[in-house]
Amino acid sequence: MTQDDLAFDQRHIWHPYTSMTSPLPVYPVAAAHGCELTLATGERLVDGMSSWWAAIHGYNHPQLNAAMKAQIDQMSHVMFGGITHAPAIALCRRLVAMTPAPLECVFLADSGSVAVEVAMKMALQYWHAKGEPRRRFLTFRNGYHGDTFGAMSACDPDSSMHSLWKGYLPENLFAPAPQSRFDGAWDEHDMVAFARLMAAHRHEIAAVILEPIVQGAGGMRMYHPEWLRRIRRMCDREGILLIADEIATGFGRTGRLFACEHAGIAPDILCLGKALTGGTMTLSATLTTRTVADTISDGEAGCFMHGPTFMGNPLACAVAGASLALLESGEWQAQVAAIEAQLRAALMPLKAAPQVADVRVLGAIGVVETREPVNMARLQKFFVAQGVWIRPFGRLIYLMPPYLITPEQLARLTDAVKAALNDNTHFAV
Ligand code: PLP
Repeated sequence: MTQDDLAFDQRHIWHPYTSMTSPLPVYPVAAAHGCELTLATGERLVDGMSSWWAAIHGYNHPQLNAAMKAQIDQMSHVMFGGITHAPAIALCRRLVAMTPAPLECVFLADSGSVAVEVAMKMALQYWHAKGEPRRRFLTFRNGYHGDTFGAMSACDPDSSMHSLWKGYLPENLFAPAPQSRFDGAWDEHDMVAFARLMAAHRHEIAAVILEPIVQGAGGMRMYHPEWLRRIRRMCDREGILLIADEIATGFGRTGRLFACEHAGIAPDILCLGKALTGGTMTLSATLTTRTVADTISDGEAGCFMHGPTFMGNPLACAVAGASLALLESGEWQAQVAAIEAQLRAALMPLKAAPQVADVRVLGAIGVVETREPVNMARLQKFFVAQGVWIRPFGRLIYLMPPYLITPEQLARLTDAVKAALNDNTHFAV
């Protein structure tokens, strides 16, 4: 890659959440294998991000590659309207089998955000079909569900800048973020504001939408499973639907196949994405119950009102099937447990560091929350110099490596995090 290519990139290409006038530096990656990214300069970086929760089996996995190559020779895409195909059927069979029993109807879409849009539309259409239209969603502060408008309307109002979209964005109901920690005691008072909001708006609320157990991009917070059991019960009592957004937590990341399993509950609508294809292609799935699906289908519209062009893309479905087959072998359980133990041993002692406000570990997720916001450009440069790929944001330095990371590679990541805390210029605002 030439300097000219990089200059073009800076001048013309938008990267996630960046400015066109003062873009943050980007690092050209030429290849990725296993748990390593290879920069165009030839340096190899141990990957601590799984490309944002997605590449759970690492990069260039032979079975995932083989599935894509085999499918490409059949067809990479064909419309899903009026047509079906083996990769979609095989994938949906697996999804129905591996998710809780009541979830049996699958909608395939393009990305996580769209899966959330689909889930919210399902809830709205469900209530419309019942002749009792409801327009609001109840959720937590500090949540993150994506960047499209419906999804954004359920994200934390401050971090997704609801003030920017005022008048355009639906106004949903926000309860304070859960305070009872995953690894702490359950505090009965935690529920009070949530329960009050639900009681006050019970006839308006179509669904509760939440990220079970781990609030990801909204703060990497890990909360008590009792929350989910209580919410499930409250929703059942009021007839309100429960949407679990497992786009980040699904497929083993928290130590269970799905985070809802920590509480032993099943949602009425489940959103999956990211690791669904082992991080190779964009695909998402929204699953729901027969009752919700039938109610929608028997309503005024007579169908569910959504149908993207690339719905059920065969190539994505084929590789997703291969990724789920790898998970079905069960090896991930021991891998994630080993990552968790090593992250605990290496990161928990950092709680004592003056720059550190908190350390949290669950499954293959390790979070160091700092007292001051990080200087992203400086810290990123430091990490690259250490031979690791870690992308901090706000006051969060976090690790979520591919499950097949070796103890030595994981130690490189945790050592780099520890070393980063020793330099105050990494935190200057
Ligand atoms: N929901 C959750 C919990 C997420 O973490 C994300 C992405 O980070 C999304 C939804 C949106 O997914 P996508 O970026 O694929 O649109």
